[in-house]
Amino acid sequence: MFYKTMTYCPECEHPLEKKFLKDEGDIPYCSQCNSFRFPVFNTAISAILFNESHDKILLIKQYKMTEHILLAGYVSQGENAEATVAREIDEELGLKVKSLTFNVTKYYERSNSLMINFAATVTGAAKLIMKLMTGIGFQSKMPKKPSKMVLLPKVFY
Ligand SMILES: [Zn+2]
Repeated sequence: MFYKTMTYCPECEHPLEKKFLKDEGDIPYCSQCNSFRFPVFNTAISAILFNESHDKILLIKQYKMTEHILLAGYVSQGENAEATVAREIDEELGLKVKSLTFNVTKYYERSNSLMINFAATVTGAAKLIMKLMTGIGFQSKMPKKPSKMVLLPKVFY
């Protein structure tokens, strides 16, 4: 699978060609650097945020979007995905992670991103009262099957 982001060598900008690599298949190759250039992509997290009693999930509203979405953010270079979840929850909501469970991953071609989804229980509901006034709030609708609603495509629309 080749993506337009890998048409040219990221090091020297020479056009890449396909070259067979044992156990890997056809991989972009820079004949100027004599190096294989494996496709690069972004890594992001999204999280289903549960309150401590696990009867509500927290969704956010971003930018000019009208719908509420799962909290999401890009993983910084050198950061593990679990740390990204905690950082985004702290930055965006001022809440702390009580527990964190890996859920599922999905690749989004549109943003060339691998999304890693977690289910997280957050603490600090008192702080949330402040946030409610800025458009962030718990939704009272609890999905019957949480796994069906993960990785909302709108996260990257
Ligand atoms: Zn090169």
